[in-house]
Amino acid sequence: RDVKADNTVITFPGTNATIGGRDLAVIAGPCSVESREQVFAAAEQISKAGAQFFRGGAFKPRTSPYAFQGLGEEALKLLAEVRERYGLRIVTEAIDTEALELVDHYADVIQIGARNMQNYSLLKAAGRKRKPVLLKRGLAATLEEFLMAAEYVMSEGNYQVVLCERGVRTFADHTRNTLDLSIVPAVQRLSHLPIIVDPSHGTGKRNKVLPLARAAVAVGADGLMVEVHHSPDKALSDGAQSIYPEQFSKLMDECSQIANVV
Ligand code: PEP
Ligand code: MN
Repeated sequence: RDVKADNTVITFPGTNATIGGRDLAVIAGPCSVESREQVFAAAEQISKAGAQFFRGGAFKPRTSPYAFQGLGEEALKLLAEVRERYGLRIVTEAIDTEALELVDHYADVIQIGARNMQNYSLLKAAGRKRKPVLLKRGLAATLEEFLMAAEYVMSEGNYQVVLCERGVRTFADHTRNTLDLSIVPAVQRLSHLPIIVDPSHGTGKRNKVLPLARAAVAVGADGLMVEVHHSPDKALSDGAQSIYPEQFSKLMDECSQIANVV
């Protein structure tokens, strides 16, 4: 961070959505795109609750190769329909350089997942795109490794990078990952880039998402990424950490109140 440099604010022409601006940027939606009914049910309630961004995986980096891998381009087309219908900006993950071309074509923000945070060729390829890149912290990445991964994207000329804390691996087993909220002020001291927090992957547990979302906003995060599903028990991925749409509305209310005083 050059002390005189302004913080990066990412804008989306034709909308009033920003990441790193005055408003809290909230990205919500299912872990995976599963069907038209599922994405539209989620998008309807997410847009009503006041979020500006919609998420949903088309390419899924699953622990097991036999688990649901995502609908691929079909999912990207459904996400593009969501943008048309609800005016939500689309955030979705590119797991490799092949998926990157498709994600760049259909989405508004290219997500690079935790498992790929140090995939330097993918980071550089994303750096050659002109869409914002949402970079998730690696499962065991230090602050310096996280910031250097962002440099890989920026070194190719794309300065529109958003960092996302999503929990790291520790000895603690009461949550899926350990959400490291202290990285938010640490990033803000060293970097001009916006940082958001994902309490869904950060905790892995539905009933922990709201309290950690509130804490993330209180600590100064620029935004949140939250998994929402209308029928989480039937979700093809991450159902246990997906909140119901009604819980998401409550989260939006409470977090915007906190954002107003931070
Ligand atoms: C996701 O956002 O669906 C995801 C796979 O997250 P992460 O890369 O943080 O595990
Ligand atoms: Mn997920």
